Amino acid sequence: MSGNHPHGSTLSEMDLRVRALETLLVDKGWVDPAALDALVETYEHKVGPHNGARVVAKAWADEAYRERLRVDATAAIAELGYSGRQGEHMVALFDAPGVRHLVVCTLCSCYPWPVLGLPPVWYKSAPYRSRAVIDPRGVLADFGTTVPDDVELRVFDSTAELRYLVVPMRPAGTDGWSEDALARLVTRDSMIGTGTTLDPASLEDAR
Ligand code: FE
Repeated sequence: MSGNHPHGSTLSEMDLRVRALETLLVDKGWVDPAALDALVETYEHKVGPHNGARVVAKAWADEAYRERLRVDATAAIAELGYSGRQGEHMVALFDAPGVRHLVVCTLCSCYPWPVLGLPPVWYKSAPYRSRAVIDPRGVLADFGTTVPDDVELRVFDSTAELRYLVVPMRPAGTDGWSEDALARLVTRDSMIGTGTTLDPASLEDAR
């Protein structure tokens, strides 16, 4: 499409395209508008990183669950009620002393929707997708995360077949915390690998 629009609309080119496509699909009877609304509602309010945070918190608190998550992440995540599109084939990556994981989709934007919601804009950007592989330490530095040289940084490339969830290390000083409290320490970026968990001291009321 050219930028020559004689309609005076304030909608962006992309919004216009999406609306035109939606109108066409509804007119043809191929999609139900109510179903579309339900999908949008689901991904705006029900699905998000709070789901992944529950998985991570349970893996921290429950050794048996952690093992099930290691063996079959898709099934272990479904135990908590999180399943569906873009989450059919999950693998959990466990950070450990001396090992961190970073997730990217170099081809497009594959992302584990049921546990993290929709991907952030930067995850889909060309610079992130290329640099995460070439210069992962540099990317993490851009996110404000310094990874010491003696820590191995493993980069995992998502595909339509495999989606990854990083399980960061449980922060020190959280002994005896409930899963609810632990989940509050788990950030979205700590489950992608670009960020870290929150400092327990910042949530002293959490336990
Ligand atoms: Fe992709």
